[in-house]
Amino acid sequence: MFMSMRIGLGFDSHAFKPGVPLVIGGLRIDHPEGLAGHSDGDLLLHALTDALLGAVSAGDIGTFFPPTDPKWKDADSSVFLKTALEEIALAGYKIVNIDCVLVMHRPKIVPIAAEMRERVADLLGLDLKCVSIKGKTPEGLQQDGTAVAHVVALLEAIKLPHEHKKLTAEADVPTDADIDGVFSTVVADAHNMSALGRKRNPFSTDDLT
Ligand code: MG
Repeated sequence: MFMSMRIGLGFDSHAFKPGVPLVIGGLRIDHPEGLAGHSDGDLLLHALTDALLGAVSAGDIGTFFPPTDPKWKDADSSVFLKTALEEIALAGYKIVNIDCVLVMHRPKIVPIAAEMRERVADLLGLDLKCVSIKGKTPEGLQQDGTAVAHVVALLEAIKLPHEHKKLTAEADVPTDADIDGVFSTVVADAHNMSALGRKRNPFSTDDLT
């Protein structure tokens, strides 16, 4: 069924670790500790990637970038985000807006949120007003050494509904055999392949990125 809007939810957490750079939302932050991870540990871009992939039911970050693959060691997480953007575009969607919550004691997010929003909006090719980033302290959660990110993303169809109907109306009337053929292809594709034709591994959802 044609859906004009879809929603996706992403979550990620990483432990703080001394001696590595801190990168959140693609922004390099001056701080004594960074985040441990196979990639650059950018939990905001990881949660955002998962929200976008989830919105088009395209798996998750671990599906596309297994932490077992040495290729993604210290990777810039904007690469993961770019893949998710390609996936949603090929599925026929674009972002309406994103809303993010970062949960950590330090660094304080509020003083750097404006710059972070600009960076994320830039990476997504979105207007600043479509990107929200909020900071919370983890009161009572006893997770001082951990950073957590939650992201929700709303998408809308690139094709307008009336264009979709028009295309359907103009198409030749298909036979039952045509419909069966298309249906079996769509089902097989949905199970095994992403919109870009990337092979999926639906049972591996490990994310140490
Ligand atoms: Mg991660």
